[in-house]
Amino acid sequence: MTTTPGTELIELETGVFARLHEGLTNAGIIIGDEGVLVIDSLRVPSFARDLIQDVKHITDKPIQYLVDTHSHWDHAWGNEEFPDATIIGHENCYNEMVDVEWNREWREKVVSSGDPWSEEAGLVTITPPNLTFETSMRLYFGGRELHLRYLGRAHTSGDTHIQLPGDGIVFCGDVAQDGGIPYFGDSYPEEWPDTDDRLVNLPVERFVSGHGPVGAHSALEEARDFIYDLVGALKSAASEGKNAQEASSSTIAALTPRYGGWRSFERLEESLPEVYGKLA
Ligand SMILES: [Zn+2]
Repeated sequence: MTTTPGTELIELETGVFARLHEGLTNAGIIIGDEGVLVIDSLRVPSFARDLIQDVKHITDKPIQYLVDTHSHWDHAWGNEEFPDATIIGHENCYNEMVDVEWNREWREKVVSSGDPWSEEAGLVTITPPNLTFETSMRLYFGGRELHLRYLGRAHTSGDTHIQLPGDGIVFCGDVAQDGGIPYFGDSYPEEWPDTDDRLVNLPVERFVSGHGPVGAHSALEEARDFIYDLVGALKSAASEGKNAQEASSSTIAALTPRYGGWRSFERLEESLPEVYGKLA
């Protein structure tokens, strides 16, 4: 099967695919009886069209549903390419996607980054979900139950976890990665540890993250430990009266032995002072 260069389609269970994109953003594809459910529409319309093309390699059924794991541009700015699908997201994901100022800042950042998709990002019609939920929603789809869960604020205010109870799988967006450091810019570090506990307590064996490989439950626990350790180190720095820069340095030193080899670890230097500001 030829898919978009840089991507890999992994069939986790019959009709359940992780579509991993090396160094970029992952998606999910679940085949139903009459149609398909896609998880995340990716960064710009051309990326969404590539994803749709890859779905067509698997099945000729139409895409009925799109679920946004969260509002971030690299997960949801392809939404406009799914005009015939019902777009599902958490209510807070909707609220973020209709926040004009918030999106203006994001667009400025992506357009000015000089990446191959920057120019196209300037043309995106940001398209929020048209069906939202607050705590939980179930879809009975293709003979399986899909449990969409809101577990609290974490990576953003509106992270959706798509649990497949019969398969022991969860798609968790950017709340957890297998061996990768998440982006903290729009995060809620005070609440993230509790949200992670709820995620870890789901009866799953595997998880598909928004970035990086498919992980086992042990990697989910490690991702939870990382958030605990990070928040704990920043809070103890605060209690010692350290400033943001000092707190950031001591936290990185504390995290390096266990997590220094994780993807994007070097990003912490830039992001931690802001996270500290939210906790101190
Ligand atoms: Zn994200």
